[in-house]
Amino acid sequence: MGNWEKNIRKVTPYVPGEQPKERNIIKLNTNENPYPPAPGVEKILKETDISLLRKYPDPTAAVLVNAIAARYHVKPSQVFVGVGSDDVIAMSYLTFFNSELPILFPDITYSFYDVWADEFKVPFETLPLRDDFTINPDDYKKPNGGIIIPNPNAPTGLDAGVEVLEDIIAANSDSVVIIDEAYVDFGAKSVLPLTEKYENLLVVQTFSKSRALAGSRIGFAIGSEKLIKALSDVKYSFNSYTMDQITQRVGAAAIADEEYFQKRVSDIIATREWTKTELKKLGFVFGDSKSNFIFAAHEAVPAAEIFEALKQNGIFVRYFPKPRIDNYLRITIGTDEEMKVLVDFLDKYIHAYHRDLV
Ligand code: PMP
Repeated sequence: MGNWEKNIRKVTPYVPGEQPKERNIIKLNTNENPYPPAPGVEKILKETDISLLRKYPDPTAAVLVNAIAARYHVKPSQVFVGVGSDDVIAMSYLTFFNSELPILFPDITYSFYDVWADEFKVPFETLPLRDDFTINPDDYKKPNGGIIIPNPNAPTGLDAGVEVLEDIIAANSDSVVIIDEAYVDFGAKSVLPLTEKYENLLVVQTFSKSRALAGSRIGFAIGSEKLIKALSDVKYSFNSYTMDQITQRVGAAAIADEEYFQKRVSDIIATREWTKTELKKLGFVFGDSKSNFIFAAHEAVPAAEIFEALKQNGIFVRYFPKPRIDNYLRITIGTDEEMKVLVDFLDKYIHAYHRDLV
């Protein structure tokens, strides 16, 4: 027997939310957008000449980069695109997190951050959020090899606010600070304008949530030209052709339709606020989510039990059996109809639970 296995890179993979095959379920477990992408996307898909696929795509993804640059009023040389923001963040770890010092991120956060750190052998330290899940900027004022913070945070949905984030960025001019704004369009303020002031700030966003294109895998980063050049160099040294030509066009069509984007985002916000009111009436407690999900605990019924009961009844939400958050459910905001079914089910379930206890 050879000893080849000892040299295999061992990682504990990130576990994505389930993508069940059944058709008639209500899927509120992976923060997808319940609405279709902008109408221009369908048009592009119908009109695209598939002989495009014979050739390699444009490695600079210029069609998409230019569209993103125009939308956010930055130069194309300040935009980097990737196959989902997961790809953008993975490339950012490789590019920017190369110190002996640990990178810093909150203890309760996107569960991919420590997976990438392990995979790329980047030392890391997690900093506990306060009891109410807010972030203390002073915790981030110590030597480090980089910082990554999602805002709004996942899975709490809480918005730290630009002031708190700027406090952290300003105190860390010797590291690259990544703010992962996957959910920012649902009611938080972006730190994008700060990229003009801080050349070590990288802002990452995605088309997966607010632009309803999780299936197309489009993410992007905006930052100083120096940061974007460094990221591109690493990407081209890894795989130049990550995004196909059709996806590039799909993304450009989606971002061009500002009216549709605003309408759908405000629909989701309205549904979220309605859902908050209803969940509160049922005894759920949660912070003020500014994302397309609500992170809620029930005052009497354990989250694990509610999670199972929902699943048995075809409603999928997300449950993380992890320290500090194992009594919470992360519930994605679906359509009004879907949220009504959820609330009606919970109403019956929680009342029956209380009755059984008596
Ligand atoms: N960041 C956060 C905080 C997320 O929740 C997600 C979604 N799982 C991502 C990044 C990655 O999203 P995507 O790769 O679809 O852009």
